[in-house]
Amino acid sequence: MKAALVGMDGELLHRSRRATGRERGPDAVVADILGFAAELRAHGVRRYGEPASAAGVAVPGIVDAAQGVAVYAANLGWRDVPLRALLAERLGGVPVALGHDVRTGGLAEGRIGAGRGADRFLFVALGTGIAGAIGIDGRVEAGAHGFAGEIGHVVVRPGGAPCPCGQRGCLERYASAAAVSGAWAAACGDPGADAADCAKAVESGDARARRVWQEAVDALADGLVTALTLLDPGTLIIGGGLAEAGETLFTPLREAVRRRVTFQKPPSLVPAALGDTAGCLGAGLLARDLIDTTDPSEVTT
Ligand SMILES: [Zn+2]
Repeated sequence: MKAALVGMDGELLHRSRRATGRERGPDAVVADILGFAAELRAHGVRRYGEPASAAGVAVPGIVDAAQGVAVYAANLGWRDVPLRALLAERLGGVPVALGHDVRTGGLAEGRIGAGRGADRFLFVALGTGIAGAIGIDGRVEAGAHGFAGEIGHVVVRPGGAPCPCGQRGCLERYASAAAVSGAWAAACGDPGADAADCAKAVESGDARARRVWQEAVDALADGLVTALTLLDPGTLIIGGGLAEAGETLFTPLREAVRRRVTFQKPPSLVPAALGDTAGCLGAGLLARDLIDTTDPSEVTT
């Protein structure tokens, strides 16, 4: 868990992180989130003489931002946690925003990170899975049911590898860091080899690694071009573990996208800039947006 106190101008005033400790169960994790937030509030009072005016929190899984409910997270084991109300109560009634981790990280990348100034962007995180955030006019589209941006489950290889989501041939079965790790481990015969090892082997000219890498790049380009055709973003921001390969990924990916587009305008394709603090900074933006849209006389401080 990462947390920060952020000034109105976006300045990071104080940062802190701690282990989530998910092995202790969902109730303990929720209690820790509330306790962590209360400590930040107390730090603000000690250091600045007043607590933060609003709070934002971003969590994984299925999130109902409108209702302020953390609906489900497979790896944390929680269901229907009314996190916004619990936090507001713990923080003395300040306005609280709840967001989805990837969409909130995407908000930060789009507004203050790699996409700074882009009013239409798409953020795609290539990690264990693949998730995305659709940026429109300084905010991120959640969709009618909280599922917008799930580009990892766009089918790019019909009839292909089964996916835990129930479909076959989903993008994340081919182009996530986990998929590349698995494909490279099988190709090189070392079960411990991962996507970063594959990128290194590509850089040293290994033909098997190049084949594995190009398959992932082609699947990714197929998925991205589907998204570009629908959304027409000005900037396409790629983050997550696989993006750490840098130009080993970006050079062939730009080329693969360029080969596929016909009438579509290719966006500028850039690496994410905020690393693993994107979610935390995005939560700060969600909180600041609450202050911007709330009558000052109504903000509890
Ligand atoms: Zn899927």
